[in-house]
Amino acid sequence: MELRADIAVIGGGFGGALMAMVARQQGHSVFIIEKGSHPRFAIGESSTPLSNLFLQQIAEIFDLPQLLPFRRWGQWQRDYPDIGCGLKRGFSFFHHKKGQSYSDQPARSQQLLVAASPSDELADTHWYRKDFDQHLISEAQSLGVEYFDQTELIDFHENSEHVLLVGKRQSEIINFRVGFVVDASGPRGCLYRLLHLSERKLPLMPMTSGLFAHFENVGSWKSEDGVPYPVEDAAVHHVFEGGWVWILKFNNGITSAGVAATKEKAESLGLIDGKEGWNRLLKHFPSLASQFSEAAVQNDFVFVRDLSFGISELVGNRWAILPPAAGFIDPLLSTGFSLTLQAIMRLAQLLPEPSDADLLLYQRQTFKELDQVSYLVGALYSNMDDFEVFTALTQLYFVAVSYAETTYRLGNPDLANSFLLCDHPDFGESTREICELATCSNNREVVLNKILKTIEPFNISGLADPLKRNWYPVVLEELFRSATKLGSTKSEIREMLLREEML
Ligand SMILES: Cc1cc2nc3c(=O)[nH]c(=O)nc-3n(C[C@H](O)[C@H](O)[C@H](O)COP(=O)(O)OP(=O)(O)OC[C@H]3O[C@@H](n4cnc5c(N)ncnc54)[C@H](O)[C@@H]3O)c2cc1C
Repeated sequence: MELRADIAVIGGGFGGALMAMVARQQGHSVFIIEKGSHPRFAIGESSTPLSNLFLQQIAEIFDLPQLLPFRRWGQWQRDYPDIGCGLKRGFSFFHHKKGQSYSDQPARSQQLLVAASPSDELADTHWYRKDFDQHLISEAQSLGVEYFDQTELIDFHENSEHVLLVGKRQSEIINFRVGFVVDASGPRGCLYRLLHLSERKLPLMPMTSGLFAHFENVGSWKSEDGVPYPVEDAAVHHVFEGGWVWILKFNNGITSAGVAATKEKAESLGLIDGKEGWNRLLKHFPSLASQFSEAAVQNDFVFVRDLSFGISELVGNRWAILPPAAGFIDPLLSTGFSLTLQAIMRLAQLLPEPSDADLLLYQRQTFKELDQVSYLVGALYSNMDDFEVFTALTQLYFVAVSYAETTYRLGNPDLANSFLLCDHPDFGESTREICELATCSNNREVVLNKILKTIEPFNISGLADPLKRNWYPVVLEELFRSATKLGSTKSEIREMLLREEML
């Protein structure tokens, strides 16, 4: 059987489904080819203000209003109560010492709470991917995308006119003859294997492994009085030397939890053993052990031996690879969705016949942005047991993304047109230098001072203020005070906040 379309998207996760929807809205005929079937477990769940802005932009640019409710907790709950999700008001970090119960002494020195939204209504979410991805596939199909599940691609042939993908569905062979292929098949995915692409080194990033599962009956982590938001309505990070644990609570009683750690740490804990590895980890951290004392794993644990990776070619004449199939650093800063959604917009603008030059530009930009995440997360891994430096380094992330989000919303995207401001001549370069210093030297005072100097011109949310003692609520007045940094006037900021229903 031979089937023809303009575009084939490999992989039916949210990335593939959105890529297909966008291409369809541009008038192209589109296949999605997925090796599994929905509903299915998928990891990668926590959204951010920037990723929700990108989702909103996709909805607006490509006339997909059906995506808009998913950019905020409140509207999602009203419009799609049956699609699971979690409330994410911010990023919570707690620093643990091996063998000791969590203690925040001196007060608030071992925690960092950064609010991302001023209310539950406007908050970000954790996507319960089993429901969410299945919903998006149905949306894609209702736009006319043809969806082939349980289809394993076994061969790839390219000539100047088209690509031929050879698929196997049960015992049937299907030839997909298409003009262009977008690979959204996730880490070390389809084209990586079929085209034997090589891997590349990620700057400063150690080799890492991951172990994760969905749980029921996870206990709570107590919020202190006066916190900027209930600390569990967030992406919760428990950081320790060599690794960290994430905990994301959904509104259906399920909790996503897992650990990412350097190879050495993962080996010393025996994470490869799944449940036993997880239990060994909990034994080292008594406060986490008590939170999980009644917890039950829903399905099996998933162990990923090589979590961080990058590949060295992201484009060919008639194909391109989306993050995270192109490379994945770590979930520590929830950067995966933003990179994926941004890449979808970039590729969509090039379809159906991208020029070589455009594809190379896409590749260059994707490498640069993945590398910037790698610098930052690599430096964070090196400082997981020095929480003051760790906290300061995270400010490079929070300042960059809050600045980018706000300048986009104010209609000044040129002020921040690369992820984490990696192309910015001051901020981008200085961030890389700081990360190298923080990884390769012991000069923590220089690192701390350089961070303050680097973030100051972009710090529009009052971050890194010692008087706030690691608790950062959303304070809208900070934006008005930062009007000059944002290239805007106070009245433009006010209009933007009204538009975004924040006033
Ligand atoms: C442990 C972990 C935690 C993460 N946490 C976060 C987070 O909190 N926030 C965040 O922003 N990002 C996170 N990420 C990154 C996030 O997972 C990705 O950005 C996101 O899943 C991308 O979605 P996707 O649809 O492109 O790919 P995926 O979710 O990987 O889906 C790929 C699809 O392709 C299919 N497929 C695979 N191979 C083939 C093949 N050969 N042929 C056909 N189909 C194939 C798979 O079955 C799957 O359905 C995390 C990643 C990991 C590993």
